Amino acid sequence: MDTNKKIWLSSPHMSKNEQNYVKEAFDSNWIAPAGPHIKLFEDKLSEISDNLNIAVLSSGTAAIHLALILLEVERDDCVICSSFTFSASVNPVIYQGAHPIFIDSEKDTWNMDPVLLEQAIAEKLNQNQKPKAIILVHLYGYPAKLDEILRIAKKYDIPIIEDAAEAIGSSYNNKPLGTFGDIGIYSFNGNKIITTSSGGAILSKDDNIIKKAKFLATQAREDYPHYEHSEIGYNYRMSNVCAAIGVGQLEVLKDRIKKRRYIHDYYKQHLSNLKEINFLEELPGFYSNRWLTTIIISEKSVIKREDIRLNLLKENIESRPLWKPMHLQPVFRKYQVYDNKVSEDLFNRGLCLPSGSNMEIEDLERVINNIKSLYEK
Ligand SMILES: *Cc1c(COP(=O)(O)O)cnc(C)c1O
Repeated sequence: MDTNKKIWLSSPHMSKNEQNYVKEAFDSNWIAPAGPHIKLFEDKLSEISDNLNIAVLSSGTAAIHLALILLEVERDDCVICSSFTFSASVNPVIYQGAHPIFIDSEKDTWNMDPVLLEQAIAEKLNQNQKPKAIILVHLYGYPAKLDEILRIAKKYDIPIIEDAAEAIGSSYNNKPLGTFGDIGIYSFNGNKIITTSSGGAILSKDDNIIKKAKFLATQAREDYPHYEHSEIGYNYRMSNVCAAIGVGQLEVLKDRIKKRRYIHDYYKQHLSNLKEINFLEELPGFYSNRWLTTIIISEKSVIKREDIRLNLLKENIESRPLWKPMHLQPVFRKYQVYDNKVSEDLFNRGLCLPSGSNMEIEDLERVINNIKSLYEK
């Protein structure tokens, strides 16, 4: 056995069937952003998403961008956004010439703090500027406090874009994440729980929204024999080849979640006797796909997050600090933030452990032994 084999944080994990579907796409020559696998993938995705209307796209970022356009976010508008996330949640706000208002996290789920959210909305309304939308992220697959946040969004009549890029297959009170907002989005990037190499989806109860999303994603071509345009379009549709991969990946989504949750429990079982290492517990009704297993190193620990990360790296094991909050990113520093230091603290003390569903027990043991060895010195 190669004892120094690279262990990735989260790498693509194909079953056998993806290649069969891709072969179908090749055999029928549907190598284009059109073809039968797109519809098939959308239908299958809809089945696991409360039967919502769905359009598959070239990326999750494209899905967020279209969601903002469909909610008519324009220049100088403001959009409320989770700060503790990946930059792709926010970049499309800037594409639209709008500006983000960042909301920090609460400690139970690490997601958007409802108290700060309501404070931000109230202050904006006082200044006569109503936020156009809320981009709500479910980080690492863990559901945000949806009851509280939906109540606030409804009270102030502000639409929610639910960024479930990391949270496909997670649920809140048994309802799938991505289906709560006015618009939901998924990502199928290479490091996500299932992948189409690159890809995303936009979903909504409102069929008109999804029809319009498909129209905008295919260059806003009007229904004429020639090319007729009365709106600005985008080239954001998923290719049929990628959709074929997606059809195969969806067949194993349940298994992938089962494995990721197993990995999380395995780490927890073998590391939680170290009192310096803490895990994010699931609250009743909050079901996480456990996309990545995350640990928090206690403040008192002499061994710091970076000590653990670098020691893993020495053994060719990839791990990564938790997301650096957007309000601390140089590119977003000039925007307003409602800050309680929770996400900053998580960033300073948190680490994502290798969590790929293709990991073997030996790989998990290597990670665990490496971490334990630091504490046994
Ligand atoms: C991956 C990700 C995205 C972007 O999805 P892409 O498909 O990579 O464009 C957006 N938001 C979050 C939280 C993500 O993790």
